[in-house]
Amino acid sequence: MEAILVSACLRGVPCRYDGRHKVSSEFEEAVAGREVIAFCPEVAGGLATPRRPAELVGGDGHDVLDGTARVVEDTGRDVTAEFVDGAQRALAAARHGGCTEALLMPRSPSCGRGVVYDGSFAGELVPGDGVTAALFERNGIAVRPAPGV
Ligand code: SF4
Repeated sequence: MEAILVSACLRGVPCRYDGRHKVSSEFEEAVAGREVIAFCPEVAGGLATPRRPAELVGGDGHDVLDGTARVVEDTGRDVTAEFVDGAQRALAAARHGGCTEALLMPRSPSCGRGVVYDGSFAGELVPGDGVTAALFERNGIAVRPAPGV
C-alpha cells in the first residue's frame, strides 16, 4: 500500500496556530485504505503551538524558496527560516515514507496548494502555494488540497 503524507492537523493533531485541529469526514474518506503519514511542517520547523498567525509576504512559497518572499507573523516577526526548515523536514519524511502524493490543508502558508492568503491578514486569498506544498511540487510529490475544510 502506498503511503500518503497529510497535514497533521487534518488527522486530529491540535497543531494549528490556534491550538486546534481540522478533522473532517471528507478527509477521512479521501485517505481511506491508505497508509497515512501525518506531519506538521510548522511544528517541525521549531514553532510553538499555539502561535501567531503567519502569511506569505511578497510572493508565494515558491518565491520563499527562491529567496524573494518571506513568511511573517501578524506581529511582524519573520519566520521564513522556520517555514523553510519545516518544509525540508516534511520532504524528508515524505521521501522516507516513499510518498509520491500529499493531501494538505488548504490556504495554509505551509500546506496550501493553489490558493493562499495574500499577506495582508485581512482574509484575502490569492493564487499560490505554501512553502511545503511548493517544495513538494518541486521534488515530484503531487500535492492536492484536502476536501471538506
Ligand atoms: Fe496543519 Fe500544515 Fe498548519 Fe501544521 S503547518 S497546522 S499541518 S496546515
